[in-house]
Amino acid sequence: MGSESSQTPQSRQAETGGRVVYFNGEIVPEAEALVSFRDRGFKYGDAVFDTTRTFGHEIFRLDEHIDRLFKSLRYLQIDPVLSADEYKSITMEVLEANLPLIAGDNDYWVTQRVSRGIDSPDIDATTEGGPTVIIECLPLPLKERATLFRDGIEVVIPSIRRTPPDALSPRVKTNNYLNLIMGDLEAKARNPKAWAILLDSSGNLAEGIGSNFFTVTDGVIRTPRSRFVLGGISRDTVMSLGKQLDIPIIEEDIDLYDAVNADEVFLTSTSLCVCPVSSVNGVKIGADIPGPITKALTNAYIDLVDYDFVSQYLSRLEA
Ligand code: PLP
Repeated sequence: MGSESSQTPQSRQAETGGRVVYFNGEIVPEAEALVSFRDRGFKYGDAVFDTTRTFGHEIFRLDEHIDRLFKSLRYLQIDPVLSADEYKSITMEVLEANLPLIAGDNDYWVTQRVSRGIDSPDIDATTEGGPTVIIECLPLPLKERATLFRDGIEVVIPSIRRTPPDALSPRVKTNNYLNLIMGDLEAKARNPKAWAILLDSSGNLAEGIGSNFFTVTDGVIRTPRSRFVLGGISRDTVMSLGKQLDIPIIEEDIDLYDAVNADEVFLTSTSLCVCPVSSVNGVKIGADIPGPITKALTNAYIDLVDYDFVSQYLSRLEA
């Protein structure tokens, strides 16, 4: 028997730091939220999710995240089961129960997950008992990602292409990340520290596993067109901040030539917000990490959320 046979419910609960999770109508210890192996989310990736974070224990843009969750559910024709307001209030209930478990200078990812549910014996997409709904928190990987803010992200572009919109819209945040995972595995085989940014099927840069891509050239910010990428809430935040700072922002096709010749490159994501890129396929980008426009956007983001997330990461660097 494997080592898990010696685990008690108490030891499993200790591993989760005592956190609780909403699981199909109840708030339970994480160790008790057990998804069936016949759940279509597990069997086929037939599920969606959405994730925001806290800044100094305050949740960020929950309304926008729930709105995106509902758009993903509608696209996949999965019943949300709960109203948007119920998702928001249960999210806050789970977060408030879990906040006392982390230090004041730590923060959470906060995620809603909805699968189509447990498969019925038929082969069509019907389920028994309705969708599986989970709302959970996980501490951010601040220590693991701290060097990215000091050194910048090393981007590698793998050969595998991002799922095209005519196959499955990349605007949907589905559980099926295989395309992005395959890209990331290929990039990491070339450089274990790399973050993959996949090309779309026309050879333009698209996005990575959990991040949107931006270049800055001659004072103009560019990001791939919205049809080809997830509409990142951080992407949207940075685009509004750019407008407020009077920096032109364009959504257009960006190829490898544009990327390696950019003055600055940065990624946006819920956990990182804005994070500088130091190289693309081994070609060094810009003179400083972060470059001036990346820094201006980062400072504007810090002002908006009223929390210095860069210092939060950098404080975790080993001495
Ligand atoms: N692109 C993909 C494929 C993602 O999964 C994510 C993260 O959720 C992002 C981009 C960035 O989106 P956000 O800024 O909302 O985290």
